[in-house]
Amino acid sequence: EQHTEKHGFTAEVSQLLKLMIHSLYSNKEIFLRELVSNAADAADKLRFKALEDSSLFEDDGDLRVRVSFDKDKRQVILSDNGIGMTRDQVIEHLGTIAKSGTKEFFGKLSGDEAKDSQLIGQFGVGFYSAFIVADKVTVETRAAGTEVSQGVRWVSAGEGDYEVSDIEKTGRGTDVILHLRDEEDEFLDNWKLRSIITKYSDHISIPVEMYKEEQPERDGPDGPEGEKIPAVPGEWEAINKATALWTRTKNDISDEEYNEFYKHISHDFADPLQWSHNKVEGKQDYTSLLYIPAKAPWDMWNRERQHGLKLYVQRVFIMDDADQFMPSYLRFVKGVLDSNDLPLNVSREILQDTKVTSNLRSACTKRVLTMLERMAKNNAEKYQGFWEEFGQVLKEGPAEDAANKDQIAKLLRFASTHTDSKDQTVGFADYVERMGESQDKIYYVSADSYAAAANNPHLEIFKKKGIEVVLMYDRIDEWLISHLSEFDGKQLVSVSKGSLDLGELDDEETKAEQEKAETEFASFVERAKTAMGDKVKDVRLTHRLIDTPSCIVSDDNDMSTQMQKLMEAAGQ
Ligand code: ADP
Ligand code: MG
Repeated sequence: EQHTEKHGFTAEVSQLLKLMIHSLYSNKEIFLRELVSNAADAADKLRFKALEDSSLFEDDGDLRVRVSFDKDKRQVILSDNGIGMTRDQVIEHLGTIAKSGTKEFFGKLSGDEAKDSQLIGQFGVGFYSAFIVADKVTVETRAAGTEVSQGVRWVSAGEGDYEVSDIEKTGRGTDVILHLRDEEDEFLDNWKLRSIITKYSDHISIPVEMYKEEQPERDGPDGPEGEKIPAVPGEWEAINKATALWTRTKNDISDEEYNEFYKHISHDFADPLQWSHNKVEGKQDYTSLLYIPAKAPWDMWNRERQHGLKLYVQRVFIMDDADQFMPSYLRFVKGVLDSNDLPLNVSREILQDTKVTSNLRSACTKRVLTMLERMAKNNAEKYQGFWEEFGQVLKEGPAEDAANKDQIAKLLRFASTHTDSKDQTVGFADYVERMGESQDKIYYVSADSYAAAANNPHLEIFKKKGIEVVLMYDRIDEWLISHLSEFDGKQLVSVSKGSLDLGELDDEETKAEQEKAETEFASFVERAKTAMGDKVKDVRLTHRLIDTPSCIVSDDNDMSTQMQKLMEAAGQ
């Protein structure tokens, strides 16, 4: 007996569906990419599970996804023999959005379709993209290792609710049946479907099969020349390369393939900014393909957010979000790591304490830093784009990764008095290059905002002397600087710290003047000290201010005022 239940989509799903149908309409063919991508993921998951229990293959171990269509019924059908879903999984995966922070995400939508479609793309719409072209979607699925009677059917018109019932399903895996909307006839076409799959899914590692096409018969000069006879039921052929992209040689992979592969593994809709593909043999044996996204993910600051690489061992998918291979300050990196040194039965626990992991982690970290260094050198504009998206995260680097501190420091960008702009475009190397002969330190000021930094009274003497000062105004900067004391052998010095010694930069003449002033103002300073009492640690005469009469500074060894504010905010 069919046990049928009606369920409502969660509010987020309904909202997402509505938005998606409108905003992704101009790019509707991506539904096929998303569904093929899911079938490939399902194959990966089954292979992994079958490592422990090969009976899950049920004598059907050639994993693939088949795409066909039925002109009369106006259906496009995808059928995979991957891991399938149980009833509970169907309800969980196809009725809710299993991503933390979804509410916040929807809060950000503006109602402006162009802007929202960008956001939606980042969010990754996956399965629900089926409703861009279909007014009804049926999913029939059976999880690997379950009985034929434990099949599940899910049906929805994408409007608020869906129905789930029990069915018999002989083959393991998932069929997705799209009932096309009236105006979507173009997808009921062999050539059309083939070309979309070739465009978006050539890199998919399982075969994507369609019915074999018969060559057209030539009817002579008057006949319907070149007309394709419809697909032949019964005979399937793979229409993609069906090898894992990262195992292929670099020269044979086009940029488009790299781009599409990125979208498959990252669930991002936009092309990546940059990638680095490396095969390493010898002491370590692995392949890595690491991507830097063009845009920060919508949930980059969400602590529960999954991140890390997709881990494969000897071509077999092991896990998503293997965060052991990327430090947290590079959590935006997406990609694949395929190791030949790890055992196939590796678990997160084992990964935690094997030498192989730490070696791979430092190798991958180096790769990313080098990729960024090259980008900064060869394409400053592109790097600037990267910095705007991920600079804040990269600034966590020196604190987290002492070993690569110097390399990270080269990648940092700040505002400075030289450019006189809020934009963070100045690297320490630029600063050092502009330094005068007699200057041996890098000066910076940090504040709550750019305006506060740029108008800090301590800058007056530096301006007068023509010395550049780095302007820091991000929340994280104090934290960063407390872990980065120098660059290229030059000490980083705050202009607002106690007895700032401008060293060689103070010339003899001013020294004499200063001494004279010290004696003249000695009694005034004493009176000020008495008047302020415990409120201050010390009162000193300063030679650093030009237009401002006085200012508050912190002692050389004390926390800066900015850091104190941070600590207070953190409840310390
Ligand atoms: P994502 O792929 O980013 O997880 P999707 O919306 O594409 O998001 O899919 C949601 C979930 O539904 C998947 O994570 C998976 O658990 C399940 N799913 C979708 N398609 C299939 C399939 N063909 N076989 C098995 N599970 C699937
Ligand atoms: Mg998906």
